[in-house]
Amino acid sequence: MLPDLERLIQLQELELRADAARRVVATAPERLAALDARLASARANLEHATAVIADNQGARRTVDKDLAAAQQRLEKYKEQSMAVKTNTEFHAMQHQMAAVKAEIDQFESRTLEVMMHADELAAALKAAEARLKADEAAVVAERKSIEAERARNEALVQTCATERAALVRQIRPEVVSTFEKVARARGGIALARAEKERCVVCQVRLRPMVFQAVVRNDEIVQCDSCQRILYFVPPRAGEAAGQAEPAQPPTASS
Ligand SMILES: [Zn+2]
Repeated sequence: MLPDLERLIQLQELELRADAARRVVATAPERLAALDARLASARANLEHATAVIADNQGARRTVDKDLAAAQQRLEKYKEQSMAVKTNTEFHAMQHQMAAVKAEIDQFESRTLEVMMHADELAAALKAAEARLKADEAAVVAERKSIEAERARNEALVQTCATERAALVRQIRPEVVSTFEKVARARGGIALARAEKERCVVCQVRLRPMVFQAVVRNDEIVQCDSCQRILYFVPPRAGEAAGQAEPAQPPTASS
């Protein structure tokens, strides 16, 4: 293969690696902000749980006061009823006492409601505290991991830039300039494999003369349609020419 072509393949791989690393670096701030938002939400949840408990305690004080006042009123009516002289007065007093007793019943059931609600709110507060604690621990760990990943990828971007500079020096300048021009116009992908007489990226059929030139891999040939620089990966031994999948080095994951 033409040395420039081999180096262009390396250059393309290098640029894809650098792009991926730059994307990781670029998304780090929003991922960190999402962690902050998660903590803020857990803190707001805890504040709300604390505030509704204060409301509940206020409601409890009010109903206690109302209940005490009604009980005092009942005691007063009881004393007054001892002193009544006539049947009419006695019945009137009985009537007032019955009304106060009904009020007391209401305040007592209200007290029960407020107390039961207080139990629920205490449980919610406990859950909110636990959630904040868990989120704080998780966020510390995740922040550390994002920061480490960012640092790793920033270093990778630097390494790629150094390697790129060294590689570019070994490629003819006009070839580099063609590569860069196509890369700018084609979303960063300046190379395309040719297979079965087609450019595998844009899928346009190549003229036989063009395809033959690409198969030789000894000159810079561009796709007529997408302008990408074409290269050919010969089929592995035992596979029919032109039918083979590109020769790929075996990877650990496959
Ligand atoms: Zn093409």
